[in-house]
Amino acid sequence: MLALLALTLGFYSLALSQGWLDRAAPGLEAQVPNRVPAGRPYKIFVSASEPVIYTTSYNGRASEAVTQNLRLTLNARAGENRLVVTATDGADNATTTRYTVTGVPEARPRVRATETAVAGDPVGVRLGFAADPKIEEVAVTLDGSPLRVFRSPGRAVALGSVPLGSETRALPLSVTVTDEFGRATQLEREVTVSADPRAVELLNLSPEVLSSSTPENRELEEKTLAAAYARGFAQPRWRQPFLLPVKGESSSSFGDPRQYGPGGNISRHQGADLAAPEGTPIRATNTGTVRVAGFFSIKGGLVVLDHGGGVFSLYFHQSKIRVEVGDEVRRGQVVGEVGTTGLSTGPHLHWEMRVNEVATNPLEWVGKVVP
Ligand SMILES: [Zn+2]
Repeated sequence: MLALLALTLGFYSLALSQGWLDRAAPGLEAQVPNRVPAGRPYKIFVSASEPVIYTTSYNGRASEAVTQNLRLTLNARAGENRLVVTATDGADNATTTRYTVTGVPEARPRVRATETAVAGDPVGVRLGFAADPKIEEVAVTLDGSPLRVFRSPGRAVALGSVPLGSETRALPLSVTVTDEFGRATQLEREVTVSADPRAVELLNLSPEVLSSSTPENRELEEKTLAAAYARGFAQPRWRQPFLLPVKGESSSSFGDPRQYGPGGNISRHQGADLAAPEGTPIRATNTGTVRVAGFFSIKGGLVVLDHGGGVFSLYFHQSKIRVEVGDEVRRGQVVGEVGTTGLSTGPHLHWEMRVNEVATNPLEWVGKVVP
């Protein structure tokens, strides 16, 4: 009985291998990727339920092989690559499967970056991406130091600054974009920096005014600002261009080198001074959240706005403050009034624009969404 069964099975397998009883088309299982990097070889694997003759056509080029497991290395051109696999068994039963493999070209980001800057200017980099490939990572460095990068669908923005006191030279700006396949595209630009040619200005502050600048007062104000910066929103929150908070006469420019007394340390003016009559309304340069609103010995009536993305605007020496900590202010909303409180020689607004705590030239932001 057992012998008979063995004989029957033996006949069946012989019949199958000879194709006498085979009416079923070969089953195919394939591993073929949908998307591959263009210009690079990729592998496919097709497995049949029995040994077959494979006829393949790839982008119109035919080839043939007799095997059960087919492994091919193909080259992807950009766009659609068409693969047709036909497996024919010994009894002439055939199975045909078609595949479309998309060859995805390398990322070609559009780059718009600051090209020239004076020491102390902010630097902005704007990137635009096509839908393909998908971008995994964007890194931007200025003179070797990484800038903060903010992503939104199809776009990225990086913000940085050129330090005050920088010499005249070209700073390398490097953009590296890594796509879904791990391919890195690198673009090199330059920011031509001009040193600041200005002469040192000796400030004539009265001893009474100067006496407020004690180490204790300076430390208190520094701590207040550090706490405000630490609470800043990670993502940029503005969408419209920055505006001039006061239409005043520029009485002292950003970065002006100055001394508070003969032989004293030379410091750089960290903001723009806009002279205007006492009581002139001061407007928020852009949408923001109030992080500081109060009176201090040196900065006087001070408001600090958090615009997100490491960008803060600061308004010094105000006579009146019209907002409170935590308020959400609109672009152009009045935050206070011009005064001469704190370390000041006359009514003016001292306005600062900081990126990652570094002071940049406020006037470079006016009328722009990104400097
Ligand atoms: Zn000032």
